Amino acid sequence: MIPFHTHNVYSLLDGILQTDQYIQWAIDNNIKSIGLANHGELSGCLELYKKCNKADIKPILACEFYLTANEEENINDNMHIVVIAYNNDGWNNLIKLHNYSWKNFYRKPRITFSKLKEFNEGLIVTTACMGGIFAKPYFDNVDIEPIIEQYIDIFEGRFYLELQEHGIKGQREYNEFLIELAKKYNLPLIIQNDAHYASKDDAFAHEVLLCKNTGSKMSSEKRFKFDTNEFYLKNKSELKEIFDYLPDDIFEECILNTNIIADSCNVILKQDGYNYPVFSEDKKESFRKLVELTKVIYWNPLLNAEELAGKLQVSIPTINRYLKILRTEAVTQIRGSRKKGGFTTTQTFQLEIEKRI
Ligand SMILES: [Zn+2]
Ligand SMILES: [Zn+2]
Repeated sequence: MIPFHTHNVYSLLDGILQTDQYIQWAIDNNIKSIGLANHGELSGCLELYKKCNKADIKPILACEFYLTANEEENINDNMHIVVIAYNNDGWNNLIKLHNYSWKNFYRKPRITFSKLKEFNEGLIVTTACMGGIFAKPYFDNVDIEPIIEQYIDIFEGRFYLELQEHGIKGQREYNEFLIELAKKYNLPLIIQNDAHYASKDDAFAHEVLLCKNTGSKMSSEKRFKFDTNEFYLKNKSELKEIFDYLPDDIFEECILNTNIIADSCNVILKQDGYNYPVFSEDKKESFRKLVELTKVIYWNPLLNAEELAGKLQVSIPTINRYLKILRTEAVTQIRGSRKKGGFTTTQTFQLEIEKRI
């Protein structure tokens, strides 16, 4: 059994598992590979990678993203999805998705299905938890078939249905639904435990952390908390106990599939020397356009942002960003000449800025 749906201290205000604890747990349980899928965050991956390499354990780098089905509007419909990099292209795509998710922030950093499709190379996807891409529509009685087909279309052979069991109401019923789906669509199943802390004893400390996260008090009855104290690291025999309702063959298949995923993962992070981006011809071309834009703004002060955007085929926010930079530069330059006696009044100072920008 290979765990990769695990949250550690880098899962912002939501995990208290230390990387060293995780590694020690893997050593104690003779587990040769462990992964990390923090919420909307990749920053723990490098520490996991380095410490795993030292301990001769294979690291699996992943993220539990928030995904919105509404690409146009800001609606609080975030669903969870675990996305795993199985090669370096996948790792680069995880970074691109992570980057996009923060630009598309609404309550949480969010990706969309179309971005996932655009950056799908090198990635494996699982359906995550009870807040996941299938669980939410299932409990909302939304027809799930078109959603499944969308994912199969893009991620055939790289798409897994994830069973979890934390004793939450409705979880067994949802797991049985996933098993039916697996049969119908010939999809592989996995078992994960969605760990946020090392052992059951840490559940209380984790609750306190969630209070910090949500700005609430432990005394508040309405505060956000996990439904049970089962979100800790579990080995295969512990999982077998809680999944007592699963037939042996399905349980073993789920465990085997986690090993198959781990075997297919092989991300190598370069840790020495410099890691500058390589500029493609396209990027050089856009840089040339921005230089040209600078000149146009300086020498054609009567052109407005829209005209400039059209002329240079760049977006209006890009133009506005440049105008802001140029305004700051102009202010600095003019302040310099003012010191030398060039401008004596605030009015002439302002007029000069307007003239230049
Ligand atoms: Zn989740
Ligand atoms: Zn999770």
